[in-house]
Order: sequence, then structure tokens, then C-alpha cells
Amino acid sequence: MVKITKLSPIQIYRLLPKTNCGKCGEESCMAFAVKLLNLQTTLEKCKPLVEDEKYRKNYEELKKLLKKPVREVYFGPEDRKIVIGGEYVMHRHELTLLNPTVFAIDIEDSASQEDIAKKIEFVKRFKYEYLGRELRLDTMAIRFTSGDVGRFCKVVNFVKDQLGKPLVICSRNPKAIEALGDFLKDERPLIYAATSENWEKVLSICRRYKVPCVLYGAGDLDLLASLVKTFLKYGVEDICLDPGTFPDHLGYTVKMFTTLRWLACEAEFELAGFPLVGVPALVWYANVPDDVKPIYEAAVAASLIIRFADLLIMKSEHAFTYLPLVILRQNFYTDPRRPTTITPGLKTVGNPNELSPVIVTCNFALTYSIVSSDLEKGKVNAYVLVIDTEGYAVDVSVAAGKFNADAVLKALKESGLENKVKHRILIIPGKAAKVASEIEEKTGWKVLVGPIDSSDLPKFIETKWQEALRQFLGTSQGT
Ligand code: SF4
Repeated sequence: MVKITKLSPIQIYRLLPKTNCGKCGEESCMAFAVKLLNLQTTLEKCKPLVEDEKYRKNYEELKKLLKKPVREVYFGPEDRKIVIGGEYVMHRHELTLLNPTVFAIDIEDSASQEDIAKKIEFVKRFKYEYLGRELRLDTMAIRFTSGDVGRFCKVVNFVKDQLGKPLVICSRNPKAIEALGDFLKDERPLIYAATSENWEKVLSICRRYKVPCVLYGAGDLDLLASLVKTFLKYGVEDICLDPGTFPDHLGYTVKMFTTLRWLACEAEFELAGFPLVGVPALVWYANVPDDVKPIYEAAVAASLIIRFADLLIMKSEHAFTYLPLVILRQNFYTDPRRPTTITPGLKTVGNPNELSPVIVTCNFALTYSIVSSDLEKGKVNAYVLVIDTEGYAVDVSVAAGKFNADAVLKALKESGLENKVKHRILIIPGKAAKVASEIEEKTGWKVLVGPIDSSDLPKFIETKWQEALRQFLGTSQGT
């Protein structure tokens, strides 16, 4: 199998119908081939290729060429599924990484009702705003420790109802898993784990309920490979691999994760081509002082995020364990080929009213973050109108013609600002001064050219805004 990064558009083009029919939304088959290699479209968008029998062989060949070396596995019902794995490359800089590491927070079924509810609340409420995005924890992993199958089922259903997310079910006791019955069929949880002892029964549960499961190798990659072979032989392909997390031997743990991903992506060893699961929660059972555990768990998790873990089972109840991890994950899984963007639209800083200033900026996440934090620091109540510049910063987007009157007009129309403010004044960045008159003409709004540096915005507003407002309202009342 040739790595996707080594394929050329012409190799793809040769296998496409070459009719340039445009049904895929592209002008030509070559344009479609280029987009396929950039992961900007999917093979299935070429309907003739998929539907016409005469292209069947080419379709199969293309599927093989574009196959991900790490299988994509999902758990949860189709409409709210969580996807893990599905990577083309080992390293982000080679192309991009696609599915960020999932955090599943551990809860024992033997915990008190109060502690279970508290942990669910913790997972639901954890949120950190970063570069215009909300970073959150993903789901929970429920561990069978009570020895009471009835209690386990009740806790699983309680967490399902309260959390509303696809779950990870942790037990090596197949009887406890099977007791969940319809829950397995309806909720498609990720089962953790099949081992050398219980694999036959877990395999049969996976086949019967069509649920994905984690194969556990405990530091033994040969055992893992043999479990994979067996599961594949019996038709269970939605599997993940846990080579073991050893908090006392972090170097060894990282080495095994790296070896598995290298085997999948570089050595074409298909038995290693599955999502990897790590369990930093094991820190809590290791020989580590209690007060250090939340920090050490974060260190183990961080090592595994950058070393290919697709899902991590965590235990800490401290927000400071997760804060650096969600930021690390966000940065690590950002597409290096594209600027980080935020969704264009109307944002607010403080509590703006109908006389508050409206600041226009681009949708490059870093720019928006700096502008909004400069306004917050200056205690300015304002509207921020974020226009779609495809993620480019102000100076670049002005030069590329993306920060223009049409983009401002579109954002204005969609924002409903006309009904929110009494004035018709926009403050644009100093770096966009050259498009000021074009924006005035097209939108009919008066444009004030703001400072070059957004740190000067609070001062600019303090000295210029009231006068601009007075002039505008005076003029508009007089007409
Ligand atoms: S739909 Fe297929 S055949 Fe038609 S232009 Fe696109 S790639 Fe070519």
C-alpha cells in the first residue's frame, strides 16, 4: 500500500472515469483527484464511479489506494457517535491528523449515588474557551467494581440518561457486559476489554450485539496481534488496541504505542492498524504520592496524546488535570495546512447595548482572541462582527481581497445588527483602512478606521466613540 502522501493526483486521475461530468461538484476529474489527496472530498462524491458497473474495478482499486492505515471506529448510536482512529499518517506535519484523542472519565459502579452524580456533573460542566472554541471532556467510562451485576446495569443506565453521551463499558467479566442486554444493541458502547482469558465470550458479545471492543495486550504485542487475527477471522473489525499503560514505566508504555502506530502507518502491518486506547487512570493505583496523582495522570495522558492514543480513560476529578490536556489536544489536532478559524458571525464582549460600538474583525482565531481579550481588558462593552476571511489574518486577507465590502455586508445581514443597535457605525481594523470607503458604499454604514494594534482599541473607543455616536445620531435625527 502506497502512503497517501506519496500518491500523485495523476495516479488517482487514471482510475477516475475521466469524463469531467461535474457531478462531484468539481470542474474536472483532475480537480477531484487533487481534492481527494488533500482530504477535501470523498471518493463517494463521484457517482459514476460508485454506480456504474464498468468502473467497479477502478473503484475498488481507488478504495484500496486511499484506505486509511488506521481503521476508523465509532461507538454510540449513529446520530451522536464518537469517532476514534481513522488516521492516514503518524505525524501531523505529513498531512494532518483527523480525529482528536477522546477523553473518557472513569467512574466505578460501586461509588455512592452522590459521587456518581457529582462526577457526571464535573464532566458535563468542564469547559474551557480557547481561541474561540469550547474545549470539553467527551464521555465517561463505567467500571464494574461492585460485583453486583444488577447495580452495574442501573449505574450504566443512570449515567447514560444523565450524560447523554456514548459510553465506554469497562469490565473483564463478560456476564456483567452481557447483562446490559438491549443497552448494548441500542447504545453501541465501546467494550473494554477482551483479554487472553475472556476473549471468546467478549467476541461472542461483539458479534451478537455488533458493538466495538478494546483488545488488551498487557505489554505483549504478540498477544495483541493474535487477538486481532482471531477477532478479524470471526468478522469483528471494529476493534481498538490497548498495549497497556504502565505508570511506573512510562518510557516503555510510550514505546509500545509508538511501535504499534509505526507498524500501521509505515510498515503496512495491518494487524496494528486500529485505534489505540490508553489508561492514565492507572496512575491512581500506582506507587505515586496521593497529592501528585492528578498531576502525574496529566503527564501520562499528555505523553500518550502526542504518542498516538486515540482514546484515554482518565480518573482525576480536578479541572487542572484536564486544562493543559484539552489545550494540548486542540493544538496537536489542528490542521497544519489551514489557519485556525472561528465561526464567523456576531459576538459580544461584556454587555453591549444599542449604543455600543461594533468592531469588525476577521475569523482567524488568534486575531479574534486578541481583539476580544483587549476589549475585555479595557472593560469595553461591544459587538464584534467576525467576517469570513477563510481564517486569514487582517493584513493577509485585505491583500488577498477576502476582507472586503461583500464579506462585511454578508456578515451584517446575517447578524441582525440593524435591530440591535441604534447607530450605523462600524469600526474596522487600521490594517483594513484601504477598504473603508468600499465598505461604506456597499453597506451604507459609516466606517471608522480603528487602530493598527487592537491593544489601542479601548483608548480609541474612549476618545472617539461618543463623538462619532453624537454626530451620527445628530445627523440621523436631523434628516
Ligand atoms: S463526478 Fe467523477 S467523472 Fe464526473 S467530474 Fe467528478 S470525478 Fe470526474
